[in-house]
Amino acid sequence: MIQLYIPLNFLGVIYREIKQSLTDLDKMFVLLEKEREVRDAPEARPLAGHDSTVRFEDVSFAYEAARPILKHVSFEIPAGKTVAVVGPSGSGKSTLARLLYRFYDVQQGRITIGGEDIRQVTQASVRQAIGIVPQDTVLFNDTVEYNIAYGRPGASREEVEEAARAARIHDFIVHTPKGYETMVGERGLKLSGGEKQRVAIARTLLKNPPIVIFDEATSALDSANERAIQSELKSAARNKTTLVIAHRLSTVVDAHEILVLESGVIVERGTHAQLLEGQGKYAQMWRLQKLEAEPVL
Ligand code: ATP
Repeated sequence: MIQLYIPLNFLGVIYREIKQSLTDLDKMFVLLEKEREVRDAPEARPLAGHDSTVRFEDVSFAYEAARPILKHVSFEIPAGKTVAVVGPSGSGKSTLARLLYRFYDVQQGRITIGGEDIRQVTQASVRQAIGIVPQDTVLFNDTVEYNIAYGRPGASREEVEEAARAARIHDFIVHTPKGYETMVGERGLKLSGGEKQRVAIARTLLKNPPIVIFDEATSALDSANERAIQSELKSAARNKTTLVIAHRLSTVVDAHEILVLESGVIVERGTHAQLLEGQGKYAQMWRLQKLEAEPVL
């Protein structure tokens, strides 16, 4: 029995290892696949980078030809300002972020940074100019330090710690078994949604890009955590050209402009005050969210 048990147990370990490697490989192929979606134009040069103004000009896009996702979307994020996008699930909000990061090329219209069409410059320079705090941050099976420093390879421990402090994750890290050397990810210490977002914010602070995309998590954090993340986000976005994909309206109140997206079309736009006054969809969403936020007695 023991003889049989050992090899089976051993096989179990090998199986788990292989499965894990396949998961990692899977991720790699997903990334490679994305890389292949777009290619640098032969004469592509790096983004000049003097001006971080982002413009979507009459952008239409479909993942599959038969199903348009974005239809004639136009907006501008002036350098250093924040534009927030709200709207129902599936309306195309995250697609805007994917297009700006150039995971895909638009099929109609154009996206510019500082007036340059992002299809005419190198992908690497576009991605260098943008920091993303995604809905669900993927952590590498490596140390906390590596995961934060990934924002700027070669960063010193002091710089990593400074970013972690600003993202308010430093105290948590120093209380883990090996501090910044603690392994995280699927094979290491598992972090909560809020902690992962803080790691992503720390990465972005370290990268210090002129443009920031924040794709707010759909899964609700507890309200104290949510308020804290929002304040850390504010510090990451300070003076940056920011696109916020928001699921909670409290995130968008201070935005320079709020876009309400429905089935890939901007149906309303304006500041929080203007939209509330307009008594349209946004005002309705705001009333509903306020009601949900009321304590149930
Ligand atoms: P949520 O609020 O739920 O995150 P969203 O507004 O961000 O939604 P998107 O993620 O932009 O929505 O997706 C818009 C539509 O595009 C959805 O119907 C989705 O199913 C579809 N979609 C997203 N990614 C792909 C893809 N890679 N291939 C095909 N369709 C996709």
